[in-house]
Amino acid sequence: MSDTTDSNGGEGERERVSVPKEIELPRLLDFYELQTEDHTKIHEFYDNLRDGRLTTTQCTDCDAVHYPPRIVCPECTGDDLEYVDLPHEGELFAFSEVRGGLPMGLAEHDVPFVVGVVDLGPVQLSARIDDASYSDLEIGDPVSLKIVEIDGPVDEERVFYRFEPTDVDEGDSR
Ligand SMILES: [Zn+2]
Repeated sequence: MSDTTDSNGGEGERERVSVPKEIELPRLLDFYELQTEDHTKIHEFYDNLRDGRLTTTQCTDCDAVHYPPRIVCPECTGDDLEYVDLPHEGELFAFSEVRGGLPMGLAEHDVPFVVGVVDLGPVQLSARIDDASYSDLEIGDPVSLKIVEIDGPVDEERVFYRFEPTDVDEGDSR
């Protein structure tokens, strides 16, 4: 290390680097799958979801119900699968709250939010729990399917599922 050029170690003007206030969302930070037939073999799951149905695959050989949907049965390796409807109501099996740590460029105003494991009976799946705060939830709470449309960053109509606490307006208020 006998470099004699001025490295601005202590004196003189230092080069200034900047961090952008906003960044274009790179495709890698888009957590949602591309949902058309060109991009995924489980496009039927998304087609059904777009039509308001939460579905998954069931093996016609061994009757196993999978989640997430598969193209080959993990139980018997059969590939004759059919899409079956899942309940839109379930119970909160576990939950947690995301309070920070989102990558730069993702909506910071979105935190905190709740994520949970929802027990639908045939399967359990993890999902974001909307319209709920961590402190108001309890394991076993009834939750209902909510389908959201995803805005950008691709020019493709995409949807995804979340859950929200089931309205308990009628009768006794818990
Ligand atoms: Zn099977």
